[in-house]
Amino acid sequence: MSKIRDKNTKPEMIVRSIVHRMGFRFSLHNKKLPGKPDIVLSRHKKIIFVHGCFWHIHNCKYGKVKPATNADFWTNKRQGNAARDKENIRKLKQLGWRVLVIWECQIRKPEKAVNSIKRFLEE
Ligand SMILES: [Zn+2]
Repeated sequence: MSKIRDKNTKPEMIVRSIVHRMGFRFSLHNKKLPGKPDIVLSRHKKIIFVHGCFWHIHNCKYGKVKPATNADFWTNKRQGNAARDKENIRKLKQLGWRVLVIWECQIRKPEKAVNSIKRFLEE
């Protein structure tokens, strides 16, 4: 649990390959934008975040897992993450970006993720 945010986590790799297969070009981890978005489609002014359910407190069973040790510490950390996520998305929207968040649990059923990504990128 030492690494809070793994840059090349598996769900992110899966989302990248989905976007890639749809023929869209993107850049990664843009440090100049709020929240260092995972996938940035500059030409389309669209951003995709891939969030781990645990770390970003998704409202699903994975987001509700309680760590066995240091529960308070991790809860604070995760709440900090979730608050920052909200703030970053708000800022990005103000800057004119459209934002999609793909959750790790959605990747467990890739065909669903594919559909929401498709809808987001093609609208
Ligand atoms: Zn989830």
